[in-house]
Amino acid sequence: MKEFSIIIMVIGDLEENLLKDIKLQLDNMLYPLKVTKVENIPMPKKAYNPQRQQYRTLEFMKALRKHAVDKHSKYLGITSLDLYTEGAEFDFGLALQDMNLCIVSTHRLRPEYYGQPPNPKLLTKRAVKEAIHELGHCFGLEHCYNPRCAMYFSSGVVDTDRKRENFCEQCQKRIRTKITN
Ligand SMILES: [Zn+2]
Ligand SMILES: [Zn+2]
Repeated sequence: MKEFSIIIMVIGDLEENLLKDIKLQLDNMLYPLKVTKVENIPMPKKAYNPQRQQYRTLEFMKALRKHAVDKHSKYLGITSLDLYTEGAEFDFGLALQDMNLCIVSTHRLRPEYYGQPPNPKLLTKRAVKEAIHELGHCFGLEHCYNPRCAMYFSSGVVDTDRKRENFCEQCQKRIRTKITN
């Protein structure tokens, strides 16, 4: 079996507690994969679009790529900034499977974004689900039609709240063959 590890990289500011909770939960869930270390990388300069007041996801991916040197690792970027790609209103996250890179934005996962009171537990849960989703892409999984599966595509937090942080049985089978082959 190949040895994979997950490396978390934070772009911009992220609360220490949130990061700690996400890392801990991913570590537990992804066992025996190791969530090994956390690096902070600077915000890419060209990422901000003042018209949209959002950040270009692809610029973040480019920045991550420079740090993603270990071929046996999957790199997960986490940012609190509001991400988008051309043609989409926003991105909860994105994965580039061939490069073992993915990213998650917590911006629209915060209850405060929808005028609700802060809820760190809910925020962590949502971030973990979206992180597992993007990492699933990095391991070669596609979107799943099961709304309870982590690989279900979230078009809003309602979808994220409905799905579980685990893969459905089908996706689990698929990922197992990909990891062991
Ligand atoms: Zn997806
Ligand atoms: Zn599934």
